[in-house]
Amino acid sequence: MFVTRFAPSPTGYLHRGHAFSALTAHEAAREAAGRFLLRVEDIDATRCRPEYEAAIYEDLAWLGLSWEEPVRRQSEHLNDYQAALDRLAAAGLLYRCFRTRREVAEEIARAPHGAMEVFRGAPLPAEEEARRLAAGEPFAWRLSLDEAERKLGGFDELTFVEEGDGAARTIQARPELGGDVVLARKDVGVAYHLAVVFDDALQGVTHVIRGEDLAEATHVQRLLQALLGLPTPVYRHHRLLTGPDGRRFAKRDRAETLQDLRNRGVTAQDLRRELGFAA
Ligand code: GLU
Repeated sequence: MFVTRFAPSPTGYLHRGHAFSALTAHEAAREAAGRFLLRVEDIDATRCRPEYEAAIYEDLAWLGLSWEEPVRRQSEHLNDYQAALDRLAAAGLLYRCFRTRREVAEEIARAPHGAMEVFRGAPLPAEEEARRLAAGEPFAWRLSLDEAERKLGGFDELTFVEEGDGAARTIQARPELGGDVVLARKDVGVAYHLAVVFDDALQGVTHVIRGEDLAEATHVQRLLQALLGLPTPVYRHHRLLTGPDGRRFAKRDRAETLQDLRNRGVTAQDLRRELGFAA
């Protein structure tokens, strides 16, 4: 059975780009006589707001979409993600990183060859780590690519199927593109990659349909699937909509929201047609 999902984070109001993504996934499920799930990715309590979540339901219903209930809200399942994190830690795949964002950026800038734009680190010497822990210094958990590579005997077997541009292609995952990613932050117990991979498996998602901006994230997510023994869905990364200025829609650019469109009299039918879907 074909199962796909739309997984927005309630960190702002949805705009046309989200509508396109949700419609693309919903339409794919309809065509495949499959299931469409809505998942609310609200693990980052520092950025998520209840009014944004309420607007997600309102906007999607306005667009004419329906989804299965209950909706999985990630904030209600933090224990699941913590358990997955603990498994990785117990397997020696994580290390504590006490560096601030600025320190990481400086470290990257100092790297001898310009090509190294991602962070690779290592655990601190045990004594220093113990001292910092005792002093209550905050830290993030990073995934060690070196340890992951050792455990899996290399990344050659990490592949995934990308159907984004119509034809299916097998892609070699290159987790090294993202460096030693942070899997748990100082302020947020678990990071996006882990929760996404865990939930897609738990919910039996067979097809991940999402924007091209997340294509790069697939590489580390494929690695996490291998490390946690989870299945790999098929991926369809779709093109990103661009505005009249040729730039892609983004929350941070204050793109016109679906609420704005509604308020100025645009109907869901108008928008569906504009985005290339049957009204
Ligand atoms: N929650 C993510 C976002 O809002 C999307 C996750 C995904 O589709 O894998 O960008």
